[in-house]
Parts: sequence; C-alpha cells; structure tokens
Amino acid sequence: MDFQAVLNDITTEVTPLLGAGGQVASYIPALARVSPLQFGIALRTCDGQEASAGDSAKPFSIQSMSKVFSLTLAVRSLGDTLWERMGREPSGSPFNSLVQLETERGIPRNPFINAGAIAVADRLLTLGDAKSDILALLSSLCGETVAIDPEVAQSEADTGFRNAALANFMKGFGTLDNPVDKVLDVYFNQCAIRMSCVQLARAAGYLCRDGVHPYGGAQVISEAQVRRINALMLTCGTYDAAGEFAFRIGLPCKSGVGGGIVAVVPDTLSLCVWSPALDKTGNSQLGKMALELFATKTGLSIF
Ligand code: GLU
Repeated sequence: MDFQAVLNDITTEVTPLLGAGGQVASYIPALARVSPLQFGIALRTCDGQEASAGDSAKPFSIQSMSKVFSLTLAVRSLGDTLWERMGREPSGSPFNSLVQLETERGIPRNPFINAGAIAVADRLLTLGDAKSDILALLSSLCGETVAIDPEVAQSEADTGFRNAALANFMKGFGTLDNPVDKVLDVYFNQCAIRMSCVQLARAAGYLCRDGVHPYGGAQVISEAQVRRINALMLTCGTYDAAGEFAFRIGLPCKSGVGGGIVAVVPDTLSLCVWSPALDKTGNSQLGKMALELFATKTGLSIF
C-alpha cells in the first residue's frame, strides 16, 4: 500500500477544516497558547517504512500519551502485581473525576485516567528515577533524545489542583507509597514531554511488533503484556469516548490534551496524528477525523 499517498490525501482533506471547530486545552495555561491551526500525521510500519505529512516533525506536548509509556515501564518491572493498585475497566467518567475514586476506595479504574497514571508514577518512583526512566525509554524507542518542556511542566504544577486532589485522596487510601509532591512531579513532567508525530509513530512501534523494540531485536515488554496494553488503549485510551473510537476507527488509541493521538494496527504499523483543537470529549477533533479516514481508506482496523 502507498502509505505516503494515503497520508497526503488525509492531510488534504482535513487541512481546510483547521480552525473550524474544537478548542485547545485551556486549563493548562501553557497549552492554551498553542495555535490550533496545525495538523500532522506520521506512521511507521513493522518493517521500518515511514510516511508523514503536514506538521509531522513539529514537537508538541504529549500529555496523556505518556501514560502508555509509563505503564510499559511499570508492567515490565512489576508484572501482574501492578494490578493490585488499579483496575482495568473503562471509567465512563471524566479523566480527572474524583467521584469514582471515592466509591472505589482509592483504587483507580484504569491506568489511563489521571488517578491511574498518578498511581503508575508512584510505582515508578519506588522502582527508581521515574522521570529519567520515562525519558530514557522514549528516547530509546524513537532513536532520538526527547526532553521535557519546563514551561508546560511548571504550568501543570501551578494549576493541577484536581490532580493534587486525586493524589492526596489516593494517599489517604494507601494507594500511593511515595510523598504526594514527588509523585505529582513525575506525573506533571511526563505529561510535559515534547515529541513530534514522527517520533511518536516510531516510539509506539513495539506495540505493533509484539513487544519487540522498533529499532532492534530486543523485547521491550512481552507479547502478552503488549496485548494487554493494546486492549487497554482500545477500551480506555480516549477518555470517555473509547466506545466511539472503537466504533468509528477500531484501533487501540491513546490521546492527550495536547491534541495528539497515537494508534496501533497490530502486526502492521503504528501511527500518530496531531492537531491541537479538542472536541468536547478532550480528543483532537481533526485527529479523530483523520484516524477514521485512515481506517476507511486503508481498511486497517482490528475488526
Ligand atoms: N496533564 C494533563 C492533566 O493531568 C493530562 C491530561 C490528558 O492529556 O489527558 O490534566
């Protein structure tokens, strides 16, 4: 298949819609300043072919897409014991909801809502230097050094009152072992990592290759663990719109409020799309449209 032509066509179709709807995330001030008039898309096949179009080389804030990679580190080291601290079910609630956490006694529904990712950050802190470990994993996976945007990290720390509430709540229930401020520091910094679509499409390569590193033969995590992460992306990766994503696109996806969405076609390719304006569910409006066009044009979907 001529993937470059597919991505060019998608970009031609969605670019006229830039600015026509959706809003950039405004609750993190540093993200509110990003121009919504940007669109990029990139993919990498399991055998190393690449294609990209639009603003695919422009770095952006990966936000919740980081949760896939922190989860990868946690399952690699902890295996099934990780699930003593969190569940694996879609939440059906906003990603920063406190209500569910109270009724479920401090155990987050899944690792992709904020509470779950904060609990994963706590586990990584117990295991080592969490921030450096996440950066090292991402840099290794995409073959380039990636970094944290300090302005975004500070902006999150200055305004992350709901995340602080979630973390304190979990601490009260005994879900977190480490001090709340240290756990939040990891979480805010991992969300503030900057990467481009090209880098993210490469980095997610192990998810379509049964856990094998995108640039080598080493196993990043086991085949069974990758299958589970892909399942969680499908069921929990796009906030409260996971059903709609499965219905329209049918691929494991993880979105972030920076406007990025990473998607996996198992055994075939990994791709990333980015456009900062978000729909009401917090997912990139044009990103979602582009992924639906991709599934339609290529017939690639797990269903
Ligand atoms: N740093 C963001 C927050 O915690 C991440 C949200 C997201 O991308 O879903 O609110």
